[in-house]
Amino acid sequence: MNTYIDIGINLTNKQFQNDIDDVVQNALDADVSQMILTGTSVRNSEESAKIARQYPGVLYATAGIHPHDAKSFDAQSISKLRNLLTQKHIVSVGECGLDFDRDFSPRNIQEVCYKAQLELAIEVQKPLFLHERAAFTRFMSITNEYLPQLPKAVVHCFTGSLQEAKMYLNNGLYLGFTGAISDSKRFDHLKEVIQYVPLDRIMIETDAPFMLPKNTPSNLLKKYHERRCEPAFLPFVAGTVAKFKGISLDKVAEETTGNARKFFGI
Ligand SMILES: [Zn+2]
Repeated sequence: MNTYIDIGINLTNKQFQNDIDDVVQNALDADVSQMILTGTSVRNSEESAKIARQYPGVLYATAGIHPHDAKSFDAQSISKLRNLLTQKHIVSVGECGLDFDRDFSPRNIQEVCYKAQLELAIEVQKPLFLHERAAFTRFMSITNEYLPQLPKAVVHCFTGSLQEAKMYLNNGLYLGFTGAISDSKRFDHLKEVIQYVPLDRIMIETDAPFMLPKNTPSNLLKKYHERRCEPAFLPFVAGTVAKFKGISLDKVAEETTGNARKFFGI
């Protein structure tokens, strides 16, 4: 039997507010044995931590501030995140990084907020869950300043170019892939990226309720949540990786699960 680990789900999203128990159970039934909730602000990280605590050994969470939320960063933010990170089921710092695509927070504030979280990761020695969108050059130059001391880091929901993937790999980073890889209309180039990236540097995630894998069979979609992605669909992300690489699903499951276990220490 295959086992999968979903390294990024947004279970605090209101699309899940009425059926968290079912969503977790459906994931377990689909062999997704562990899931990591993504914390995107101090408040959201606290909420994620609370949900994860109710499913010991199954749900874990990250604690961090998404670049969109950098505008909420204040003098107390880091101590609140540090406090969360003392808990055993809070396994990672993030998500954090830069997003110059939508610019929901001013870029200079995003940078201050990102650097503070890199320093926090160095202090608490927990791995980093990183977000970068349309900010590759600046992101890489900031990250590089800290690289020698940084714990392990994964760039989640990677949709960048092959060139960018190579730079990340050369700097020792892991890459997280979502259902975006099955969207050949928008992300056709990711096939070549997946073929290039060694399996021991790949982790998989659904980013639920977003990024519904295109290859999810329609009979699995819930009537009232047609476009909602769920962690139970993670095997379809693995299936696309297997198809692109021309290897078995078992191999993808085994390796990506092993990577996530080691990376997050779960
Ligand atoms: Zn993200």
